[in-house]
Amino acid sequence: MGPGIPDARYGDRTARAQALLTEHGVAALLVGVGADLRYLTGYVAMPLERLTMLVLPAGGRPSLVVPRLEAMAAAASPLVRAGRADVTPWDETDDAHALVATQLAGTQLAPVADDGRARVLVSDRLWAMHVLGLQRALPQAEVGLASELLRELRMIKDADEVSLLRRAAHAADRVVAQIAAGPLVGRTEMDVSREVRERLLAEGHELAEFAIVASGPNSASPHHDATDRVIRAGEPIVLDIGGSMDGYCSDTTRTLWLTGGNPANGPTPEFRRVFDLLRDAQAEAASAVRPGVACERIDAVARDIIATGGHGPDFFHRVGHGIGLETHEDPYLVAGNGEALRPGMAFSVEPGIYLEGRFGARIEDIVICGPDGPDVLNESSRDLWVVSG
Ligand code: ZN
Ligand code: ZN
Ligand code: ZN
Repeated sequence: MGPGIPDARYGDRTARAQALLTEHGVAALLVGVGADLRYLTGYVAMPLERLTMLVLPAGGRPSLVVPRLEAMAAAASPLVRAGRADVTPWDETDDAHALVATQLAGTQLAPVADDGRARVLVSDRLWAMHVLGLQRALPQAEVGLASELLRELRMIKDADEVSLLRRAAHAADRVVAQIAAGPLVGRTEMDVSREVRERLLAEGHELAEFAIVASGPNSASPHHDATDRVIRAGEPIVLDIGGSMDGYCSDTTRTLWLTGGNPANGPTPEFRRVFDLLRDAQAEAASAVRPGVACERIDAVARDIIATGGHGPDFFHRVGHGIGLETHEDPYLVAGNGEALRPGMAFSVEPGIYLEGRFGARIEDIVICGPDGPDVLNESSRDLWVVSG
């Protein structure tokens, strides 16, 4: 048995969410399919046009409103299995949004907002068709976003979540090493990208979400989509790969240089200079992580070093994003985010330097804010991987 989240944890999470609802005067949380639902119930539901929704009133028993054909799957979810929620199936001809309103009938929808309306929060990724349907079914409710409250829970990872993130990170590290072992020269980016995805799955990921293989001048495009460009000796590759393992995401970037087995094809002095600057910026930013430091400070540490080295304009994205059940989630490490880091926050530290038309480089680790400093999950070398390819 690998690490995992015990069933009882989901009941703790819904109880904490309910306490936050009460504290903030929100009548209910309405959570559709996605990471919020998985976080609160452990239910990994299919993203269908039919409504699946956790109805979590501030007071009262949670219920999972699901299409009848999903009722068995919903009943097998950890929160229901632990006896902490009911399954409320709806039939094909029912109005599912009206059924949600019925679940909320009673004391829970007492007006709590300043203007006398009840507030309900819907999950940020809920489809617009369901948001509009719920607004029609709950005309007395003012609708807000669930992240207002759920970010407080999801942002701080518990020890089991950190173990899952660490395991996913190590799996991705192994794939980086496997890809770096080659062969690479003479293959297309797309072909290598496909191999990355296969290897992520082979290393235990259930989903290989992205496999950026950016070779030569393409390395200057941070989110380059693998193309049919043939990889050559004497050029770099930015390899940015990730997916999810038991729901928790991996995301790591390493920069390779391919010699094709000929030392004369080694990294150019200019590339070396840029890479060493980046290496320094990434290391300093990661080691600045500790509780109380503002998110934007981590970005600034990397940016100041890169700017001092003369490449300020060539680092044009934020230094990192939170990660957990989603690849990109709170907190974002970006200028303007003064939120203080807290123990248990998980995020990427991934500065890059990009010279359009020429080359680029990026180094990305997933870092946990520990009680006294950074806990860097990725273990593969952050140096330039000079490989035969
Ligand atoms: Zn990215
Ligand atoms: Zn990445
Ligand atoms: Zn990332």
